[in-house]
Amino acid sequence: MSKQQSRVRPVETTGTAQPGETVLELDGVSREYGPESAVADLSLDVQDGELLTLLGPSGCGKTTTLRLIAGLEHPTEGEIRVRGNAVSGQGSFVPPERREIGLVFQNFALFPHLSVAENIGFGLDDWERRRRSDRVDELLELVRLEDYREKEPGQLSGGQQQRVAVARSLAPEPDVLLLDEPFSNLDVRLRIEMRDEVRRILKEAGVTAISVTHDQEEALSISDRVAIMNNGQLEQVGKPEAVFENPKSRFVASFLGRASFLTGRVRGDIVETPLGRLGTDQLKGPISAYDGAKIDVLVRPDDLEATPATERDAKGRVVGRQYTGPSFVYRVELANGTPVRCLHNHVTTFEHGQPVGVNILADHSLAWYPTQ
Ligand code: ATP
Repeated sequence: MSKQQSRVRPVETTGTAQPGETVLELDGVSREYGPESAVADLSLDVQDGELLTLLGPSGCGKTTTLRLIAGLEHPTEGEIRVRGNAVSGQGSFVPPERREIGLVFQNFALFPHLSVAENIGFGLDDWERRRRSDRVDELLELVRLEDYREKEPGQLSGGQQQRVAVARSLAPEPDVLLLDEPFSNLDVRLRIEMRDEVRRILKEAGVTAISVTHDQEEALSISDRVAIMNNGQLEQVGKPEAVFENPKSRFVASFLGRASFLTGRVRGDIVETPLGRLGTDQLKGPISAYDGAKIDVLVRPDDLEATPATERDAKGRVVGRQYTGPSFVYRVELANGTPVRCLHNHVTTFEHGQPVGVNILADHSLAWYPTQ
């Protein structure tokens, strides 16, 4: 049995991280450019077979982190280890070509005049002929392109090209596969289809992978864990549902799920918000220390509902709407100026400027943050 086959695992559907050997460690890694820190004191462990996504706004340091792992950048401080061996830092530096790390580029970077099979086998020059050809067959099967082996990249769809790019990077059996904005070159429909497909391929290959994106939906849907970055630092690392439901900071909350914040004052066991009183039992965690203080309660579109109202009873006014097909998201400006979003199915219609009531529907406890 080949190394590849022996690593095959059933495709996971729950999105849970797998316990196992730590394959990649970043230990206090920093990268400075002059006075600016692109990455600051970043520590992170990635387990065998895990798919971890670095997520954050433009300029937060995602690409620099990926380049540091690949060996395309030297850290200013800290150490990077692969399977326990230092590859960067503390005086050691293993060049990119000698790291067992594969990279899938944004634009796929396929060789246009080589066939699909030749592209996939490109990095296996030093493999014995038979072994190389078996490996290419194995990967063609893994990415479901057996019937395209003799085609050139120009004869393939965007999704098929991406599968070739992933297969080519998996071919030398890297310890870690890095994917830089892997779906940004695909149109929206294909992007969603390829998320499932790439996840399936990575899971079947059993490879440890790190992807980079600024697309929260992509990160939440494909990853075992997401690492949210801000200003070169890690804000929170965890399973997608844990990070989404329990954002540790206002930054993480604002970055995920089109968040709005209702500012209210805590008075005993209630909070007075612009949408009325909320029981503190509807909020996450202990809050008694904040009695008398102002807090910001996190509400997302599916937590709120707009209702028709007269001018007199209205809580706010519709100031915008986004139609997505199955649903509308209405932007409502509350009387005190707070913007919120309300998710409705496509049969509910409100007009621009219409006065509306807004109810909190959330059937889960709401996160909150001390008002800054
Ligand atoms: P994006 O999503 O826009 O690609 P990012 O999160 O990947 O952003 P990085 O490209 O890692 O961010 O950049 C992080 C910070 O480091 C930015 O402020 C950037 O300007 C700076 N930076 C990155 N590379 C260099 C460089 N070679 N020289 C100077 N500054 C750099």
